[in-house]
Amino acid sequence: MDGRLTFLGTGTSMGVPTVGCGCAVCTSADPRDRRLRPSVLIRWNENGPSVESGSGSPHARVAVIDTGPDFREQALRNGLTRMDAVFYTHGHADHILGLDDLRPLSFTVFREGGPIPLYASRETSALLERMFAYTFSPHATYPTRAKVRLEPLGERTLVHGVEFLRIPVMHGEMEIAGFRFGRGAYLTDVSAIPEASFALLEGLDVLVVSALRHLPHPSHATVEQAVAWARRIGARTTLLTHIAHELGHEETNRTLPPGISLAYDGLELAVDLGPVNL
Ligand SMILES: [Zn+2]
Ligand SMILES: [Zn+2]
Repeated sequence: MDGRLTFLGTGTSMGVPTVGCGCAVCTSADPRDRRLRPSVLIRWNENGPSVESGSGSPHARVAVIDTGPDFREQALRNGLTRMDAVFYTHGHADHILGLDDLRPLSFTVFREGGPIPLYASRETSALLERMFAYTFSPHATYPTRAKVRLEPLGERTLVHGVEFLRIPVMHGEMEIAGFRFGRGAYLTDVSAIPEASFALLEGLDVLVVSALRHLPHPSHATVEQAVAWARRIGARTTLLTHIAHELGHEETNRTLPPGISLAYDGLELAVDLGPVNL
């Protein structure tokens, strides 16, 4: 099944430009050096025409991985009119704070059949319930809260014909979720990939993996580390995301091996979302 993967944001937690910073990347005129908080959009058509026929199709399906603080702006830029599922990688602010901006989409979806399912690990769900108590508490009375429903994140989740596999990765001391969908995978906030997870990443066309900067960080991979994983996994195309202001787009891309490059906000590519047989 053909699908499209769109980068809604490719920046690190503080975004680029970073508030109060006057460095060369934060003041760059290259639009690819402007990075909203990290998220990707996956689109496909269920039992319908090719996804190229556009989002107006009654068969159009849409999922996002994470809803960070820039979700509203990202949804507007990309003309989102519906949402079929949200997958959460973990509960850090740069990945969850846009949850409330699902409200307008959730009202539309709710009229069609029910709340938007939000798939999250037990830890992430507990955090979301605390943070957005006025949405999730059984005692919540706020009338226009988001029509969303937390769902446990299993190993495989089927969303309108597309299977999303959870790929465990390490983010410092914390195990978080990466995702595989067909021949694509999205691994953000990674500092280590457990050996068992490599087996779930075989036969990829598109690998997205985070690479913060060149200087080591306790909970994020460097460019060098991400390139080493990319070589081992061997996807046809690898795109790096969750990028800090130390990395200029053009200048960094010149140093990367063939098939590996920095992603940028708005970048879109085709991805086969067919079943994964591992
Ligand atoms: Zn992050
Ligand atoms: Zn994080």
